[in-house]
Amino acid sequence: MRIILIGPPGAGKGTQCQRLVDYLRVPHLSTGEMLRAAVRAGTAEGLAAAHFMAQGQLVPDPMILGLVTKRLEAADCRDGCLLDGFPRTLPQAAMLDDLLDCRAMSVDGVIELAVPRDELVHRMLARKREDDNPEIFAKRIASFEVQTAPLLDYYKRQGKLASIDGLGTADEIFNRVREALRRLKRDSYQG
Ligand code: AMP
Repeated sequence: MRIILIGPPGAGKGTQCQRLVDYLRVPHLSTGEMLRAAVRAGTAEGLAAAHFMAQGQLVPDPMILGLVTKRLEAADCRDGCLLDGFPRTLPQAAMLDDLLDCRAMSVDGVIELAVPRDELVHRMLARKREDDNPEIFAKRIASFEVQTAPLLDYYKRQGKLASIDGLGTADEIFNRVREALRRLKRDSYQG
């Protein structure tokens, strides 16, 4: 299965992605992780991306597309993958559709982890990451609301969206994720 997990910063995507890749036995494609690895390695791409990431802004599409295309073409992604952090904008979603279309592939389902904004801020204050200072975090949330949230409607119209409550323990949320997968599978069989 080719699944996208969408949620605002601090929604707990990382934890659920780890569980999902074990459950689905597919590779985890996190553009944020790929970019952080490039920054750590000090590559030209990493240097170019670091500035945007530190400001809580999106990295330009050509770089993201390059990373994702290379990864999607790898043999281990042939039977599926879990996309995390991509697509993040409507143009990126269109690019992904094109990329998959050309390879006779498609997105099977999109799972939204829904968490209220107050809870996100509360969680952010309890954890520590470089791009987590309150001002930058607020920018990342705003970027989610303005640029990424429209994707929910995009996939809903295609009948591919399953929204789940992102509040609760990791186990409770993962049970909802599994239930959402079952629904998506059933609906895709019914066409
Ligand atoms: P994440 O770990 O997904 O929250 O991503 C961390 C940061 O990497 C984001 O705040 C963006 O600066 C950048 N980033 C990750 N994925 C994308 C994407 N699909 N498009 C643009 N920028 C991205």
